Amino acid sequence: MNCIFCRIASGEVPSNILYQDERVVAFPDINPKAPVHLLVVPREHIETVAELTEDSASIIGHIVTVANRLAREAGIAEKGYRLVVNCGLEGGQEVPHLHVHLLGGRQMTGTLG
Ligand code: AMP
Repeated sequence: MNCIFCRIASGEVPSNILYQDERVVAFPDINPKAPVHLLVVPREHIETVAELTEDSASIIGHIVTVANRLAREAGIAEKGYRLVVNCGLEGGQEVPHLHVHLLGGRQMTGTLG
């Protein structure tokens, strides 16, 4: 298994795991773009959000609720935060394992492009 997020999720590669359950794990982004920059990833190796179907898309709902909880714990829930999912090459996805970025702790600026 060569996927870095699978290796973090399995514990093979150490990370500061901030939340985990049977379906997802959350840990800090190694190259943070904001004072709070966490990643929530499924344990299952799903390459991109584009793979999700009606049957499998509930994982995204779970990831969002975990991100919300982490935002509250990080103290950024009240002021607001940003959740980002990049998909594929032109979507800016670098790691081919589905993940949601939780960004906060500063004013988010810029456009979506
Ligand atoms: P994306 O461009 O949406 O695929 O984002 C991938 C993110 O994963 C980037 O923000 C990287 O900084 C982050 N990243 C890559 N390798 C690691 C790692 N070993 N631990 C934590 N974050 C990582």
